[in-house]
Amino acid sequence: MNSANHHLDKTISDEVIFDPYKIKLDFPALEQQVNNHTIVYLDNAATTQKPHRVIDATQHYYEKDNANVHRGVHTLSQRATNDYEDARDLLRSFLNAKDRKEIIYTRGTTDGINLVAQCFVRPKLEQNDEVLITHMEHHSNIVPWQLICEVTGARLVVGEINDKGELKLEEFINKINKKTKFISIVHLSNSLGTINPVQSIIRAAHDRGVPVLLDGAQAAARLAIDVQELDCDFYATSGHKIYGPTGIGILYGKQTHLESMGPYQGGGDMIKKVDFEHTIYNDLPYKFEAGTPNIAGAVGLAHAVKYVQQHGIPAIEAHENRLVDYATQKVIEIDGVRIIGTAQEKAGVLSFVMAGIHPHDLGTILDSQGVAIRAGHHCTMPLMKRFNVAATARASFALYNTTQDVDALVTAMQKAKEIFQK
Ligand code: PMP
Repeated sequence: MNSANHHLDKTISDEVIFDPYKIKLDFPALEQQVNNHTIVYLDNAATTQKPHRVIDATQHYYEKDNANVHRGVHTLSQRATNDYEDARDLLRSFLNAKDRKEIIYTRGTTDGINLVAQCFVRPKLEQNDEVLITHMEHHSNIVPWQLICEVTGARLVVGEINDKGELKLEEFINKINKKTKFISIVHLSNSLGTINPVQSIIRAAHDRGVPVLLDGAQAAARLAIDVQELDCDFYATSGHKIYGPTGIGILYGKQTHLESMGPYQGGGDMIKKVDFEHTIYNDLPYKFEAGTPNIAGAVGLAHAVKYVQQHGIPAIEAHENRLVDYATQKVIEIDGVRIIGTAQEKAGVLSFVMAGIHPHDLGTILDSQGVAIRAGHHCTMPLMKRFNVAATARASFALYNTTQDVDALVTAMQKAKEIFQK
């Protein structure tokens, strides 16, 4: 192998000082001017920017190692296969899965949830059975369950939340009954920032024999994930929210579950032997990876995870918590601001509405000042309805954000207020 420089270093340096101003320099997209202002990127819950390391690794893969995996005897194919499988080993340790067989590459969280819905839950569902979710779910953790409920006659049951945006835990657990076949809940809400008490839910569910999937789209970049400690049955997340490429994600599943499931899609790589009468499927994890995978995505994702590990999840979490607290204090000082989502356990996200200004208008004015936030329903329409708003403005944070970014947000909000008061 001649690409040692770009391969994953096997060690992580210990002594790293967390300096978001220095960290920002690792992200080329953050150097640019937008509307004559240096960009302030606060739309990280939608997708994060990518550090040089990820961009370089992906480029290097295409320049030097590009070949298909698992089927070539030639050198490039072996390199590509090694990179792709080394990445899987790293992702296994990132989530602390027991075995690399439990790490399935997907297109992202949505793909992972759909896989579990179709291959694990759907075959178990009968008329009047129940799938339990919460009121704060992303559409990706609502619609896949509706699809399988529709064809089986099962019911989607929704756990309610309080006005702070916290799950009503006792009520939720009381909803688990003999008809409940599966529970799927968001670990960290993309619209509210609420961190759900997933460990208590998993324990209660398992006591009643019900498996649980965690939607970790927002959690994996800022909370330490240990799937063995959580004891979740499935964990789905997306690479692009962890500073990695789009189009790649991870689905963790307990080996016994994955073994018991039929394949998701048919095609190359997921088979051992095919003839017209009968096909023997491949072993885990390949049974769920039909077709040529996103090899460059896996390589890039591994480098993104290495980047995160270099700074350390605890340091990232603490930094972002400080930013959310600082931003909350500053934003509520502005007249007419209402924060949506004030859970005790909260991270990464600040959603709000401003009296007299539609979030889309606010987003546009902020953009004219170089501040990128999200305005809309954030793919959580039922949640918006629960809070009686059509949309919110959402600032969401990453390891490269600074208090200066928050100050720029607040200044831009004040300007928007002046414009609308005229
Ligand atoms: N769940 C949550 C909580 C999310 O924030 C997102 C992305 N906004 C998803 C699921 C879907 O992720 P993806 O689009 O990467 O599949």
